[in-house]
Amino acid sequence: MAMRQPIESGAPDNKPFLHPTLLKNYGNWKWHERPRPGVLHHVSHSGDEVWTVRAGTQRQLDVWTVRKLCDIADTYADGYVRFTIRSNIEFMVADEAKVAPLVDALQQAGFPVGGTGNSVSAIAHTQGWLHCDIPATDASGAVKALMDELYQEFIHEQMPNRVRLSSSCCEINCGGQADIAIVIQHTKPPKINHDLVANVCERPAVVARCPVAAIRPALVNGKPSLEVDEKKCICCGACYPPCPPMQINDPEHSKFAIWVGGKNANARGKPTFMKMVAAGLPNNPPRWPEVSAIVKKILHTYKHDARSWERIADWVERIGWPRFFEKCDLPFTKYLIDDWRGSRSSLNASTHIRF
Ligand code: SF4
Ligand code: SF4
Repeated sequence: MAMRQPIESGAPDNKPFLHPTLLKNYGNWKWHERPRPGVLHHVSHSGDEVWTVRAGTQRQLDVWTVRKLCDIADTYADGYVRFTIRSNIEFMVADEAKVAPLVDALQQAGFPVGGTGNSVSAIAHTQGWLHCDIPATDASGAVKALMDELYQEFIHEQMPNRVRLSSSCCEINCGGQADIAIVIQHTKPPKINHDLVANVCERPAVVARCPVAAIRPALVNGKPSLEVDEKKCICCGACYPPCPPMQINDPEHSKFAIWVGGKNANARGKPTFMKMVAAGLPNNPPRWPEVSAIVKKILHTYKHDARSWERIADWVERIGWPRFFEKCDLPFTKYLIDDWRGSRSSLNASTHIRF
């Protein structure tokens, strides 16, 4: 077989980093179980067995924490780790006797073991202040604050079905479908610093960026600049990355919204889009208590009201959206639950610019 050539994009080949038992039995697993929350047990057709221990972390990892986790892997596991799509860390061992000491070591170092099955697993989040140039909030900080409050739901499997949460620090790029998604939204058009536009921005690139054609080139005080038709602007923030002088982040007007009922799986029902159920929540670091309160209320209501194996979307579809708002003590306004079929007439859903 030809050697795989190095490439500069895409996922690297994971085979050199796999635990030897996983490598040997790749694609040959017979069955699996969860002996306790946070531990998976896989058995291969060859008779080999492997136990996976999943732990949560504080999300953004400093080098000392990474070293601590690697020391635990070397001392208590077989020296292999991997991260899940939600940034949980997993340790693999091929000997059942190693599971309990590994779990103890993780818990003593402050890492909760859980996130499997019908738990609230760690929250998928976007890059936030640390890595991205356009975030309106610190997604990882909001997630850390919320997971601190959902600690018991992470280490136990007491939800009706699995619960997957996500957060996004802007509304237009990364992020994803989730049972509950926390998304920041801008609510006012960008403010233009005309003195800087001429020096910093490529005006045609900015004009082309706007999905509703709200930006026009303009001469301001005799200098080339831009203007925004505020009646058209949908406050998406797409103009801010190519033109930082079009500042749209605002401590008061950039707000959190909460969306409910998305899922990617087609188990027991089709994949679903999430729908907005709360908006206008303040961007209130460092603990974002208003956001945590609503997410916890929705989770608590779902936990006690849903039937076994209902995902949040299944539960809401069964009881109906009006009952969902009543039970979760959320006010309903006409701006909520856009189902996206309707939005074909209100948003530009094609690649063609409409004037
Ligand atoms: S969601 Fe938006 S702001 Fe956050 S990391 Fe992605 S592109 Fe950047
Ligand atoms: S915020 Fe979005 S809609 Fe408004 S001007 Fe910028 S790109 Fe256009």
